[in-house]
Amino acid sequence: MLLGCIADDLTGATDLALMLSRSGLRTVQVNGLPENDLDLSGIDAVVVALKSRTIAPADAVAQSLAAARWLKAAGARRYYFKYCSTFDSTDAGNIGPVTEALLDFAGGGYTIACPAFPAGGRTIYMGNLYVNGVPLAESPMRDHPLTPMRDSDLRRVLQRQTSLKVGHVGYPAVEKGGEAIREAMAAEQAAGRQIAVVDAIDNRHLASIGMAIADLPLVTAGSGVALGLPEAYRALGLIDALTPPPRTIEAPPGRAVVLAGSCSTATRGQVAAAIEAGVPHFRIDPIEIAEGWLKPVDVLDWLTVQADDTAPLIYSSDDPETVRQVQERLGRDGAGHLVETFMADVARPLPERGFSRFLVAGGETSGAVVGALGVKALSIGPEIDPGVPWTRSRSGPDVALALKSGNFGTSDFFLKAWRYLK
Ligand code: ADP
Repeated sequence: MLLGCIADDLTGATDLALMLSRSGLRTVQVNGLPENDLDLSGIDAVVVALKSRTIAPADAVAQSLAAARWLKAAGARRYYFKYCSTFDSTDAGNIGPVTEALLDFAGGGYTIACPAFPAGGRTIYMGNLYVNGVPLAESPMRDHPLTPMRDSDLRRVLQRQTSLKVGHVGYPAVEKGGEAIREAMAAEQAAGRQIAVVDAIDNRHLASIGMAIADLPLVTAGSGVALGLPEAYRALGLIDALTPPPRTIEAPPGRAVVLAGSCSTATRGQVAAAIEAGVPHFRIDPIEIAEGWLKPVDVLDWLTVQADDTAPLIYSSDDPETVRQVQERLGRDGAGHLVETFMADVARPLPERGFSRFLVAGGETSGAVVGALGVKALSIGPEIDPGVPWTRSRSGPDVALALKSGNFGTSDFFLKAWRYLK
């Protein structure tokens, strides 16, 4: 094992694991702190998925260090701290404090901060982050309920979170290529700065950055930087060869189901398209759960009588106005928790009932479902749409899982995803 990664949320971890796998590393994802008996033979990279984006900074640091210690014991020689491509954080953290702790753990020195993901519309120019061409502070992230981003200049954002000195490697160096980036990093380090925000506006830049940073013990970034690292590791002789990503994945025999707890626009479109295509569907109403009219057993009974060769859809996805009304009655966290617990209770007994193929929509929903299934580790399979691979469990029940961040995927996602399973 070469690369040990720590991601601050679940679907972000899957996004990174997919990027590494597509770029040639044999990658495993672990949900939560790994168990010691995990078999890592033939694996180049491990991504540990934490849920540390918005917890107290001291807890985020403690969990990240525990993950790093496990990765080190498992043989990691390089570390990658993965955060969101919109740099989701507050002035208290957690990107700064976790970076500080991991840099110290990795032996000190110097690292970069680069959430750029040009294919997803996240670019950095002169230290400022743009979301689909709009400065971060003017993008919808401005009003995020937990991590409102009101400053587009990542140098300032990060400097408020850390006592390390934050510097910058700008577009002119990045555009010239790996050698120029290395020189710019050396100049920053000589000037006493320990983290450089690095500009990147296209995939060429990510490849050059990969070449320049392959030597660093710690990288902090979104998933984009993972695009260039595997080839750079191969060029340095850290791995023998790149492994082409799988085109299909073996799925254990059994029935299929879709669990959608995301209310994001993309997921609502996917629900509508599946219903339109005649997929059997069951709508979960949070008020009915709260009032005791709807129980997980009702959904399970309904599932049992659906045709074996369909992938029934169980969904709570709703439009913003209905969600707002539900939240007014149950509270935002109360409603979220209620639906997540319900989805988890529906999912838990399904492997015993012959279900082995799960498509889950929503980051929090995915966390609840994999937790209930007891799936701790995942092998990464083929990409269905950008950021969403099929995976297969390496612990717990033998199942195939696609964990979709709410806003990912084309409208026919719930219909086409099954094609990639063998
Ligand atoms: P996304 O990836 O789109 O953000 P998540 O699963 O992370 O999706 O978050 C969606 C949240 O909304 C979850 O906490 C879920 O339980 C909650 N939720 C789902 N359906 C409803 C609904 N109809 N009303 C209120 N909250 C809901």
